[in-house]
Amino acid sequence: MGETMSKRLKFHLSGEAEMEERAFTNPFPDYEAAASAVLAAGAAEETGCARPPPTTDELGLPFHNDGKIIHNFTRRIQTKIKDLLQQMEEGLKTADPHDCSAYTGWTGIALLYLQLYRVTCDQTYLLRSLDYIKRTLRNLSGRRVTFLCGDAGPLAVGAVVYHKLKSDCESQECITKLLQLQRSIVCRDSDLPDELLYGRAGYLYALLYLNTEIGPGTVCESAIKEPAAKVDQETLTEMVKPSVDYVRHKRFRSGNYPSSLSNETDRLVHWCHGAPGVVHMLVQAYKVFKEEKYLKDAMECSDVIWQRGLLRKGYGICHGTAGNGYAFLSLYHLTQDKKYLYRACKFAEWCLEYGAHGCRIPDRPYSLFEGMAGAIHFLSDILAPETSRFPAFELAPAQRDKKM
Ligand SMILES: [Zn+2]
Repeated sequence: MGETMSKRLKFHLSGEAEMEERAFTNPFPDYEAAASAVLAAGAAEETGCARPPPTTDELGLPFHNDGKIIHNFTRRIQTKIKDLLQQMEEGLKTADPHDCSAYTGWTGIALLYLQLYRVTCDQTYLLRSLDYIKRTLRNLSGRRVTFLCGDAGPLAVGAVVYHKLKSDCESQECITKLLQLQRSIVCRDSDLPDELLYGRAGYLYALLYLNTEIGPGTVCESAIKEPAAKVDQETLTEMVKPSVDYVRHKRFRSGNYPSSLSNETDRLVHWCHGAPGVVHMLVQAYKVFKEEKYLKDAMECSDVIWQRGLLRKGYGICHGTAGNGYAFLSLYHLTQDKKYLYRACKFAEWCLEYGAHGCRIPDRPYSLFEGMAGAIHFLSDILAPETSRFPAFELAPAQRDKKM
């Protein structure tokens, strides 16, 4: 009954109230306001104001002119990461022992520790990652084939962890097993979809991930070509570009995107549904086709996310504030415009208050894509924003630059 009642109530809510219900009002001033406060303070100093000039910290700019994160903010993030890691480890004691996926299971935790090792160079994180990945490699499900939800995730992450530990034999064993999955991927009779979470693109991502993390040629070109990556120019212009443009034309007036084709309600601002996911496609389209319209649309996604991206659903990556923060980091890489770094830092600041906003608790509250591990991943990327990347989605910056 409660359910029926709440549905009826929802029907009567205005669009604005609906928005309120999904996201918190963003309490932070935007970059222009914060930056002009810094300028005003500088001018006051020049005219001989008696008060000592305020520091960048007091003015709310979390980075220096060169984009380096200020010491105080770095320290706050480091402290919070330690605190959250402790809570996460405690919480994981009651997590589903059989979920080995990168999305909500143990491979996701292994990926988080791999990320912490990358950012801090602290070997203990790499060993933690090994513990978790060993556990998943013993429990491969044999059901799904993608990086995020299937066996390709544990195998690819396993190959990388063993490679970093210089255990080349074990690394190669993972790669061999990963390539054995290929037969079912390229088989034309299979009803496997083409998308990222459950389909071919999700397997292909695992192959590209290995070539980025271990080195070009780890998986040979012919294997990558067979699941149809490295598309030729003709396919790009005849098929990929029109598809991107089709998605663009589905845009709401607000700048947000529908969660599915038949859905005309402008409600969700999530990585999994809406502008925070579409922005990554637009950024990539701008890099490949070099047309301003893609950049402009991506920037408009960023504005919607800034307004409606502090989600009541929590702090995670798939449908939480951390995932939305990655949209800003992605645009910062592309444009070097500090406005986007600023916005990412403010979403990180929000995540520093983890649990204090009365958000809903996700089903898998400690996992990489739904829960705490994702927020830690995002926070650690703020420590080194130049090299940050959306987990299990973007490939390494070095490779991206080459493509530009
Ligand atoms: Zn989601």
